[in-house]
Parts: sequence; C-alpha cells; structure tokens
Amino acid sequence: MNVRTQLPSIPFIDLAAQRRHLGAAIDTAVARVLDHCQFIMGPEVRAFEAQLAEFCGARHVVTCASGTDALVLALRALGIGPGDAVICPSFTFCATAEVAVLVGATPVFVDVDPVSFNIDVNGIAGAVEAAMAAGLVPKAIIPVDLFGLPADHAAIAAAAKAYSLFTVDDAAQGFGATYHNRRLGTFGELTCTSFFPAKPLGCYGDGGAVMTDDDALADLLRSLRVHGQGSDKYDNVRIGLASRLDTIQAAVLSEKLKIFPDEIAARNRISARYAQGLAQDLADVAAVPTVPEGYLSVWAQYTIRVAGGRRDALAAALKAEGIPTAIYYPIPLHRQVAYKHYPVGKAGLAASERLAGEVISLPMHAYLDEATQDRIVDAMRRALK
Ligand SMILES: *Cc1c(COP(=O)(O)O)cnc(C)c1O
Repeated sequence: MNVRTQLPSIPFIDLAAQRRHLGAAIDTAVARVLDHCQFIMGPEVRAFEAQLAEFCGARHVVTCASGTDALVLALRALGIGPGDAVICPSFTFCATAEVAVLVGATPVFVDVDPVSFNIDVNGIAGAVEAAMAAGLVPKAIIPVDLFGLPADHAAIAAAAKAYSLFTVDDAAQGFGATYHNRRLGTFGELTCTSFFPAKPLGCYGDGGAVMTDDDALADLLRSLRVHGQGSDKYDNVRIGLASRLDTIQAAVLSEKLKIFPDEIAARNRISARYAQGLAQDLADVAAVPTVPEGYLSVWAQYTIRVAGGRRDALAAALKAEGIPTAIYYPIPLHRQVAYKHYPVGKAGLAASERLAGEVISLPMHAYLDEATQDRIVDAMRRALK
C-alpha cells in the first residue's frame, strides 16, 4: 500500500476550521437570540441587513429563507410570469433556471464563455430570438457569477438595455466579489445571494438575500417575503411567500461578515498558489482559472479544466490519496430531464457541453494551509504527468 494513503483525508470545504477561528463570538451571538426569543424577524435581522447593505453598497438588503427564494422573490417583484422568457446560462446550478419555472415563466438557455465560465454575452441576441420564436416575451436575464467570478456586468447591462431586459444577478457564488472596484450587489435591478453553508458567506442553515437600489422594488420584496402583507398586517395585498431569514442565522452571519474581507483575501492567496503550483509543468493538461483585469473573485470554487478525457482518472487518483474533488457541473441544465424541453439560444451550447466533461473543482476555503495545499498540488502532478 502506498504510504500516502495513510495521510488524513482533506476536507473539500473546512467549516470546522472557520468555526474554530470564530471562537466564542458565534456562541455569544446565538445565545443572545436564545435569550430574547425573537426568532422571526428579530433585531439581528435588521442589523445584519444594514451591515450587508454597507458592505456591498446597495441601498436595500432584504433577507429571506434561501438563495432560491431570493431569486423567486426577485422575479416576482419584477412581475415576471407566464408567457415571459428568462434568459440564463445552462452551465450553472439548477436554481438559476428553476426559479423561472417556479414563477410560471420559461427559461431560455444561453451558452457560457469557456474561460470565465460565465454568460457568453454574444449569445444573448440568439437567446432573445429563440424566445420570440417560441412565442415568449423576453423579460429578464439572470447572469451568474459562477465559482465566485463576476460576470461581465458592463456587457450584460448593454445587452439588457438593447433588448429591454431586466437583470437579476445570481450572485449566490460570487457575493463579495468586485467588478471594476464595485462589489456585486448593485448590478442590474436586483442581486440575489445565498447563505447556504458552503457558499463564501454562509450561515449554519439556509438563508438568502436580495439587494437593490430601487425603493419600490425593496418595498415589494419586504411584502412578498411575508405572504404579501400590506401596511395592515392582516390585510394581505398580494400573494407572497413565507420566506424570512431566521434571527439565529442573522446573528451568525453578522459575526461571519466581520471576517469575510480577510477570508476573501485568503481565498485569493490560496488560488494564486494553486495557479503557481499547477501552471509550472501542467499547463498543457490542466487549464487553471484566470481573473480578468479589474475583477476580483471570491473563489467559491477553484475549478480547473482537464482535457483529453483524463478528468475522471484524476479524480480517482486524488481520492485514493484522501483528496476530495467535485464536478460542478457534470450535466448542463439543457441536458437534464426537468429542463431539456426549454428553448436554447440560436448560438447553441457547445461550451456548456464541453465544460461538463472537463471541469473539476479542488478543495478551496479560506483556511486551506500551505502544507495541505502542497499535498494536493503534488498529488495532481503525479496524477497528470
Ligand atoms: C447555491 C446557489 C443557488 C441557490 O441557493 P440556495 O440557498 O441553496 O437556495 C442559486 N444559484 C446558484 C448559482 C447557486 O450556486
């Protein structure tokens, strides 16, 4: 037996390390909520919303029960429903397209750029065309800041303007990242994020938020998240959801937000080290992610591309050494059972299909120490040589 198999296995995302780093602060914050017992919409929720608004520069932050709900609330606030088309990438987590269907609209898939993994802006015209050919009214586009890297928001804004589309930014993976020195949160009409534990800013359960600079949309969101409540609590003025962020989760998030900037810096140091270690002699077999000038990623995932059908063998070799990997995403949405009948942009989805067979994500979190990272890089070198 190879002696390396004796090494302890490495966590893919080490939430326990973060927990140790946070120490008693979290316990104290949670204990405060347990004492005052305002578990729904307690003071910690409002406090966290204000802190998050300050952090990302948005005028309003409306928290809710999950990232998926955040997207549903956003589409509902924009009045999107049956007969409307929502343009979104196929190479993403299912929730991006699922929410279009949940509000009665139809997702129309557009391809991604094979280097940034984000929406290929050149495909938007063809998606608008496909939507209209299917008898739909193109209403909105949901760019995704995949793996933590902002989409090209200036180009998306130009396309959205040209085709009169609302933009809902799915920043579930990219929240905290910056695009030309502006944090995600104010691109498009609405920005959505998720506090699922594995996201860069995660809580200890489910949670999400919608950000906007628009006062009227913010009012709508606040009504929609509590059953469509009007100014009189018992006179509901629209159909809404029961979708609030738990007070306990808000308390947890306020503590985590304090260390988030340091964690983003750590993730960037770690990704730079990966790039250095893997680019040395593996450049022809493994393509490491690059960050365009003017962008800052939060590295929700460190995803490389391994060509020539060697990806699955690499995953197996790493697994044998106690190193976990993940495939985000093995099947693009337009190939999945629930989504394969929806329209596809005229330009096709060649990059999404190719990426599904080539991508592999390596362990990535703010507490990945250098020795562990060296172990991962060495194992990759051995596997790919
Ligand atoms: C995680 C995620 C969501 C959904 O967030 P939940 O909090 O799990 O509902 C939506 N979009 C993307 C791109 C995600 O990664």
